[in-house]
Amino acid sequence: YPDVMDKLVSLCKRRGFIFQSSEIYGGTGSVWDYGPLGVELKKNIKDFWWNAMVRSRDDIEGLDAAILMHPRTWEASGHVAGFTDPLVDCKQCKARFRADKMDPKKLEANVCPNCGNKGTLTEPRLFNLMFKTHMGALEESSSIVYLRPETAQGIFVNFLNVQQSMRQKVPFGIAQIGKAFRNEITPGNFIFRTREFEQMEMQFFVEPGTDMEWFEQWKAKRMQWHFDLGLSPDRLKFHQHDAGELAHYARAAFDVTFDFGGTLGDQEIEGIHNRGDFDLSQHQQYSGKKLEYFDQPNNKRYVPYVIETSVGADRVTLATLVNAYREETVEGESEGRVVLGLKHSIAPIKAAIFPLTKKDGQPEMANRIVDDLRSAFAVDYDETGSIGKRYRRQDEVGTPFCVTVDGQSTGDQTVTVRDRDTLAQDRVDVSQLKGYLAAKLVG
Ligand code: ATP
Repeated sequence: YPDVMDKLVSLCKRRGFIFQSSEIYGGTGSVWDYGPLGVELKKNIKDFWWNAMVRSRDDIEGLDAAILMHPRTWEASGHVAGFTDPLVDCKQCKARFRADKMDPKKLEANVCPNCGNKGTLTEPRLFNLMFKTHMGALEESSSIVYLRPETAQGIFVNFLNVQQSMRQKVPFGIAQIGKAFRNEITPGNFIFRTREFEQMEMQFFVEPGTDMEWFEQWKAKRMQWHFDLGLSPDRLKFHQHDAGELAHYARAAFDVTFDFGGTLGDQEIEGIHNRGDFDLSQHQQYSGKKLEYFDQPNNKRYVPYVIETSVGADRVTLATLVNAYREETVEGESEGRVVLGLKHSIAPIKAAIFPLTKKDGQPEMANRIVDDLRSAFAVDYDETGSIGKRYRRQDEVGTPFCVTVDGQSTGDQTVTVRDRDTLAQDRVDVSQLKGYLAAKLVG
């Protein structure tokens, strides 16, 4: 697949999807802001996940835990001691690398991947990725808190609260969407790896011994979700973690990878892990509180195993944008067009309404249509520039339908509806328009 990243970064800025954070101050290192269309796109993707994982199931409950947690949480989880990346510096050009992501040959030969000098790399040293801050007025070691590096721990510490308040029986899951922070050594590739990001995580609690069965089920379900989101199946793969790659807590792990094209290629967008009873057992030990499940019918008590699915909202938004981006030539037109072929349900704007000219009552009629459609869909009104330019603008942001009010419309109360992908134009009665769009917008 071609590398479309530079073109996407520019489109995202130009069309109000994503801006560099604090841009007027020169930007902050690897943090991004979502603009008017970006916030809609990401929200639609988060809703798509929430509906699939929480709303459509009886056996998964939602949660929104706090970012700041008791500092003991991160001792129990292993993050204070072990959430580190091996960092290597070049003494010559001052570039910084993650040793585990470097070409092993270059690392062994001590060749800097940036300046190419030999013998200039430092020994790898461990760097903790958690952001530290202080809670309360005193800046002393006892007041240290961390910005959470993953949302999962908020779920583990609430395991019994959710299970008991909702009267859930194992197997069941808890899902949440929220911010996570990692002081990444090598952030980059736009919103692919950033220092502040959002995760959509689900922890599914199962009886020990049934864990691998559930693991397989969740692998299949999660891959299907990416297909349903509209990501091209031939860009998606599983990558199995071998023994050396497995995290300290994991009994088994697969990544879902997406082919971003160009040199970035196949990269993880989601992790599916069998965490065993590691987390609940650790929290039990560190908090001194029992985190067991009582299986009443079988009169059994146990610490459940956990199957986790963890996907980055930003990373999957980037995959969606890369997947949707296409450049086309249009028959009979000299200029080509750029289209975001987004699935209708996640497109930020569902329909754009244009008056062909700014006179003869056309803007008024177009505005009445906007007011009517607004209650059902996200719509946009545009009267500036030629009609061709307005179509192009909407194609570039992935709007599935453009509705045009023309000279005929004010007379016979019909409008034209143009389809983003087929470019076909239908003449539709204004009284039928909402139903017409609703029928076309499913899926
Ligand atoms: P990587 O090796 O790419 O840094 P990871 O294996 O540490 O990722 P996990 O801890 O498994 O990632 O996190 C689960 C998901 O959270 C990832 O699949 C990714 O989608 C997202 N994620 C993790 N770190 C970042 C980040 N720095 N920026 C954006 N998304 C991230």
